[in-house]
Order: sequence, then C-alpha cells, then structure tokens
Amino acid sequence: MAGAEAPIPYLDLAAQMRPIRSEIEAALGRVLDHCSFCLGPEVRDFEQAFAAFCGVGHAVGFNSGTSALHVALRLLDIGPGDEVITTPYTFIATSWAIHYVGARPVYVDIDDETFTLDPAAVERAVTPRTRAVLPVHLYGHPCDWDPLEAVCRRHGLPLVEDAAQAHGARYRGRSVGSLARMACFSFYPGKNLGAYGEGGALVTEDEALDRRARALREHGSTVRYYHDEVGYNYRMEGFQGAVLGVKLRHLDAWNEGRRRVAAQYQERLAGTPLRLPVEREWARSAWHLYVVRHPERDALKAHLESRRIGCALHYPLPLHLQPCFRSLGYRAGDFPVAERAARECLSLPVYAELTTAQIDRITAAIRDYFAGRGS
Ligand SMILES: *Cc1c(COP(=O)(O)O)cnc(C)c1O
Repeated sequence: MAGAEAPIPYLDLAAQMRPIRSEIEAALGRVLDHCSFCLGPEVRDFEQAFAAFCGVGHAVGFNSGTSALHVALRLLDIGPGDEVITTPYTFIATSWAIHYVGARPVYVDIDDETFTLDPAAVERAVTPRTRAVLPVHLYGHPCDWDPLEAVCRRHGLPLVEDAAQAHGARYRGRSVGSLARMACFSFYPGKNLGAYGEGGALVTEDEALDRRARALREHGSTVRYYHDEVGYNYRMEGFQGAVLGVKLRHLDAWNEGRRRVAAQYQERLAGTPLRLPVEREWARSAWHLYVVRHPERDALKAHLESRRIGCALHYPLPLHLQPCFRSLGYRAGDFPVAERAARECLSLPVYAELTTAQIDRITAAIRDYFAGRGS
C-alpha cells in the first residue's frame, strides 16, 4: 500500500540538524558565555569565513536577505524616479528592495531553460532612468553572466547579484557572489546555507561599500549615537552567526549531496513526459531547487501528495501579476515565458539527506502518474 508508506517531506531540516547538533550547541554556548547577542565575535568570524567562501574581500552580516538587498540599492544611491531592471520570476523579496528605495522595478522576461534574466530583453528595457540591473541566480543555477555584464558595460549600469538561492554555485569557474560589485545572500532556514532563524549577507570586494554597508545596517552610525545617514536596524544576531559558522563548514558536502540527488532524478526521470532542469556547460548549479515542468502540473502535484510525497510551487504567480504591484500597470501576457513557467513548474524534494530509496519512490510515483493517464 503506497499510501501507508512514511511521508517524504519536501524539506527536512531535522535530518540535516541531527548529525551536527552537538557542534551547534557548543557554538550557541559560546554566545551565552560572552553574551554578544547582536553582531559580536561569532558574526565577525562567520563574515570572514563567508567572504572567503565567495572569493571576495568582505561580507557583511544582515538580519535577512531582503535587508541586504535593500542596503545594496541604498549603496548605489538609487531612489525615487529611478528604474531597476529585474526578473518577474523570483521570490518577491528581490522586488521589495527596489520598492523600499522608492524606485520602480522594470521587469523583463526570462530564459526558458534556466529561468534567469534574458540579456537581450535587459538591453531592450534600458531607458535614461535605468540605474541598475538586479538578476537572480534562480533555483541555484547561475545567470549567463558574460552577456549580462556586456549589456551593463555598454550602458554604464551596475549589476547586483541576488544570490539568495545559489550559495556555492559557479559561473565558468567563478563563485556566485564574486561576479558583480555586490551580491546578496539569504540564510533563511530552507536555503542551501540556512540559519536557525533569519539571516542574510551582502558581499563585495569594495572596501568603501563594505564600510558604508556596516554603517547602514546599524542605524547609519560608525560612532555610536552619531548618525551620518539614515540607516536601519538590520544587524545579524550572535546566535545566527554561531549557527552559520558551524553550518558553512558543511555546505560543500551538502551541495554535493544535492548534486547527487539531482543526478539520480535526471537518470530516473529521463524519457518521462516531464521537462527536466538543465545545467549549462558553463554552470555549476547549487541545486537549491529541483524543478520539473509539465502542463498538468497541478494534477501531478495532487497525485504526489496522495502518495505522501512533499512538493512545492516556485512560483505560482509572477511578480508583475501580483496584486500588490497592480499600480505598475503590467498585464497578463506581458512576460509569456515567466507566465508559462509559473503554470508548469513543480519543485521536488532535493536535500543531501534524501535517500536513494526515497528518490526511487518519488520517481516511481511520477511514472505511475503518466502510466495511469495513458500517455
Ligand atoms: C529567500 C530569497 C530572498 C530573501 O531572503 P530573506 O532572507 O527571506 O529575506 C531574496 N531573493 C530570493 C531570490 C530569495 O529566494
């Protein structure tokens, strides 16, 4: 009886935590010993280790990826009247940052296979008001960076990487996070590198940007109670720095585990009617998500759930069609590639702890679905 089998969760944070629990408890204990709850030595050590991981000089810890993105746009002095070109097919936080500085997101369509910004579409969207381009390495797959950079160089535009889903991914051998002048990461618990709470980072090679980012995350001050510019309370907590410092040491192994799971899916799902994810020859994906496509996505999802297999939608409604952005004036049909992806994409479980037996059950259930519907 398939229905009687144990559920396969979409995400299993407990399975990841169990083998490192004593390391985590020791690190949390160090924070209790010195009581540096906001920033402090654990955050400082993690920032240095994470900068090295990304191959850049500086990492600034934040209380979320959204905060880091907001500050990145502040560092570029973007504000009202400005436009930022970005993708409509991402988690909404990418666009929040643009709204928070009072600028306008200008959406362009995505590549149909990697789901990342289409460089030719970016070029067509440049206006005299464009101030920056904000691409996302979606699902862990890096954007095709050289063509994006070429467009931006021609128009004198800075790029900011939204690397919230791509810790450890590579583009032509270069680390995601080191491609643009600034990159932002999220450490939300379900990300490839997740805190036990909220967290984020802004990474850069530029010392002046690093200094200003540190001031902006801490009320706009470098000397306490003197405020050079309007800032925020966006500090990373000591406990999160401690957790992240431990977990960063395991990240490469966990990403290898995700890669193994993705390879097993590719092998077992070949020849089914599903469209499978690609990894370009110039890319090393971080496999944050494993996303398949089919026009009957909703029925397939219901079928998997009836077999107690967790799956998820990333993302069911593109940003240009979200009610909160109605005033931007976009309509259905404006970005057909993104809109079709939103109807067809289904995320399967992908994490290092997923066993081959579980993968076999998931892929057998998918094959049963297509066998049952007679195609
Ligand atoms: C998770 C995520 C963010 C925001 O990160 P938070 O830490 O949740 O604020 C931004 N962009 C993308 C693409 C994300 O997936």
